[in-house]
Amino acid sequence: MSVQLRPVLGTLPPYVPGRTVPGAIKLASNETPYPLLPHVVERIAAAAAAANRYPDNGSAELTAALAAKFGVAAERVAVGCGSVSLCTQLVQAVADADDEVIYGWRSFEAYPIITAVSGASSVQVPLRAHVHDLDAMAEAITGKTRLVFVCNPNNPTATAVRRDELVAFLGRVPANVVVALDEAYREFVTDPQVPDGTTLLDEHPNVVVLRTFSKAYGLAGLRVGYAVAADPAIAGALRQTQVPFAVTTVAQQAALACLEPEAEAQLMKRVDEIVHERDRVHRELIAMGYDVPPTQANFVWFPLGDATTDWAAHCEQRQVIVRAFAGAGVRVTISNAEENDRFLAAARELAPTPH
Ligand SMILES: *Cc1c(COP(=O)(O)O)cnc(C)c1O
Repeated sequence: MSVQLRPVLGTLPPYVPGRTVPGAIKLASNETPYPLLPHVVERIAAAAAAANRYPDNGSAELTAALAAKFGVAAERVAVGCGSVSLCTQLVQAVADADDEVIYGWRSFEAYPIITAVSGASSVQVPLRAHVHDLDAMAEAITGKTRLVFVCNPNNPTATAVRRDELVAFLGRVPANVVVALDEAYREFVTDPQVPDGTTLLDEHPNVVVLRTFSKAYGLAGLRVGYAVAADPAIAGALRQTQVPFAVTTVAQQAALACLEPEAEAQLMKRVDEIVHERDRVHRELIAMGYDVPPTQANFVWFPLGDATTDWAAHCEQRQVIVRAFAGAGVRVTISNAEENDRFLAAARELAPTPH
């Protein structure tokens, strides 16, 4: 007789890590191509030398720095072991067994897993033309709904919803239902009509904004993210549901180093370069005849349907690792000009119309 595990575990899709192939470039996980700033590495080394001590469980220093950055009380900020951890904590904080969590689909691949493991039920609302269908999401709310994730810009389609439609949607969500604006890619947004979620908090007490140091700030390997909530009760609940000491001293110090004005300015300059490259890559792909939705993130989406797996394999043969979502599409991370050129060369060979 073997051990008895929860049946739900057998229903979960296996996590597919970004593949590592010698000599190939990795455009599968939306990481930044830039190495850490030297000054951040120094802070990490200093923190590492003191790693015989437990971290500050409340991440007080980082919480205070983030509260200052957003001009909110520290009690409205919660730090987590990556924002995917904050997503998990949020579901645990609001949903009991059989309660419902709504999100668009396709969206962040962690949402269904997190929800299933928690024991809550997922309600997946199909995207419309690769964009969140906020009307349909509002209509999907029932008495059992506790949480709605709005990933903006959306991973993996890279599309974003705008202020007017988001505000109209928030107006339709009952006050007891939490709306999590997952803004992992916020720093890459250039459309002025796509709102910074933190500007919506004053009017909407049930909203929490989730951000991360993994993408624009380049700390994916250190696992640190944060939440800014309208209501201190949400941030407090995130602290209650966190795994103790999940955010290491090394991660806290690295994030603090990134928030220092000079470092942050350098990091945002890198973001500008990625955005410039993104717009160039997008233009070239459209010229090649690809159907690629507009992008407000550091990646592009190819809705290739049944051709997905083959197309990704052809990229890999050309030493370019991309992320395939079988039967749906391929997501490709924007990197520096040299790596993007290598990807574009592969894409050109695989283009729908010969060039
Ligand atoms: C990358 C990502 C995150 C967070 O990543 P962490 O590394 O856990 O901070 C959260 N949401 C979305 C949609 C993402 O793509």
